Amino acid sequence: MITNLPEPNEFKNLSIQYLAQAIDHIFKTELAISPAALVSSFGDLDEEWDSRQGVLGNSLIMLFLSIENFFKYEVSTQDPLELLTDESRDKIDSPESYDFETLYLLGLDDLVSKYKKIDVKSLSGSALTMLEELRVSRNKFTHGLHRELIKPNYIVEVIAEYLTDIWTPTWISEFREVMLTEPLYGLFNEDEENMQLLQYYKFFEDYLSQRKFKKLIGMPLEGRRYLCPHCQENAIESGSVLDAKYACLEPNESDSTEVHCWLCHGYAEIERESCQEQSCPANVIYPTDSYKLHTSNTCLTCGSEQSN
Ligand SMILES: [Zn+2]
Ligand SMILES: [Zn+2]
Repeated sequence: MITNLPEPNEFKNLSIQYLAQAIDHIFKTELAISPAALVSSFGDLDEEWDSRQGVLGNSLIMLFLSIENFFKYEVSTQDPLELLTDESRDKIDSPESYDFETLYLLGLDDLVSKYKKIDVKSLSGSALTMLEELRVSRNKFTHGLHRELIKPNYIVEVIAEYLTDIWTPTWISEFREVMLTEPLYGLFNEDEENMQLLQYYKFFEDYLSQRKFKKLIGMPLEGRRYLCPHCQENAIESGSVLDAKYACLEPNESDSTEVHCWLCHGYAEIERESCQEQSCPANVIYPTDSYKLHTSNTCLTCGSEQSN
């Protein structure tokens, strides 16, 4: 018999922690080399990365582990014993007891095959190709002589495809729970998390095409983007250099009177009036709000305050 069977969520938690590390290896290294990346752009440091292949290799390995544990999670929700290799499965009927942790588990290829057999789960051809290429790159890095340079944009693209097509945009709320935040002046927990996520959004947005970025965070592909009055208030309050421009009209129609934010997932009532700034053609205004110091009565396109 087999004892000490795992809970599926243990694999999911591992997967998220590895994901956070895969991202942070690139994100934090770029910020350390060039703190201005937050204002200018991430992803402009190709030469710097040539001499930091070890960091990218670690990121790649963490990403592989994240994906492997994601599939372990999915397969174990059916039955944790499904994770065992054939040899280890022989122990199931043994009179002796074996601790699950001491047994051999399936590798990524077999996990993917089992995943595809679960009802309603499927993987696109491009996702399968991505997984195969990742497996090869990771093997080259762990066993090889590192003859080929790894580029950060390759890893970021794979992370985005994994999160968009395999995990789906629910990854954000799960990621939030393991994300490490630093205390920010005047903000509470969830707002601090949003400000940390804002930096990750900027990171992904700089690396990816607009279309891929929007799919990654679940935002509609069409339609203008607006400042979120809640997140922008927090961004200014905490001294961020970033604009929290991840809100869209909800519904996405020309006469809508509400915006929905894809960072905090909050809503805000807005007024459809022309911005008083001459150079700004927009007509989405956040009305007077005595709870907000910075975004009360402002245009959600250019951020300028409106006179009454
Ligand atoms: Zn928001
Ligand atoms: Zn304006």
